[in-house]
Amino acid sequence: MPFSKLGLYSSLVKGTQAMGYTDPTPIQQRAIPVVLSGKDLIASAQTGTGKTAAFALPVLNRLGPHKPGSPRVLVLEPTRELAAQVETAFRDFGRFTDISATVLHGGVGYGKQRGDLRAGVDIVIATVGRLMDFIQEKSMRLDKIEILILDEVDRMLDMGFIKDVKRIVEMCPKSRQTLFFSATVPPEIEEMARFALKNPERIEI
Ligand code: AMP
Repeated sequence: MPFSKLGLYSSLVKGTQAMGYTDPTPIQQRAIPVVLSGKDLIASAQTGTGKTAAFALPVLNRLGPHKPGSPRVLVLEPTRELAAQVETAFRDFGRFTDISATVLHGGVGYGKQRGDLRAGVDIVIATVGRLMDFIQEKSMRLDKIEILILDEVDRMLDMGFIKDVKRIVEMCPKSRQTLFFSATVPPEIEEMARFALKNPERIEI
């Protein structure tokens, strides 16, 4: 099935064409309709399966046009490199939309990131530590989050972020949609999924 049959706006299908993609990968075929329907999702999928587009495309679709104010989408990533890659993916797929995205991670100054938040962005991709700093200084608010994406949850928990991830989940509105990606789903990840998700659809790749 081509991207044009998955229910995405033509601006986003154009985004996939500009990236040189012809057909969706298995996780994209299965996850895109679930995310578009507004349901929560738990997917066990490794990096390299195309999971970034599996959430970025339908999330961009659900946002519609840019809205000023606090961010509406939050993506949590375990590392700086992944956060930067995922921000690039959102920009690439959304290049024919007016949606804005920014990345918050350590290792660089706070000034530019703070400025982006003040200007108002639709999508924030963040690592846990830097996000907590911005929440504490009140530069980042979570009360308008409509979609929360926890990516590579097994790696985030291995890195010792369980308490902070739970705090971040609790600060997001209860009415949100939550998407949960993990290469493996051992019992402690299941427990985290029960904490964060409501009646999720499950996809195993
Ligand atoms: P990911 O699993 O999201 O890290 O993606 C792995 C790689 O596959 C990235 O380089 C993507 O640009 C590429 N990719 C993702 N989806 C597709 C697709 N439908 N067609 C071709 N390449 C893709």
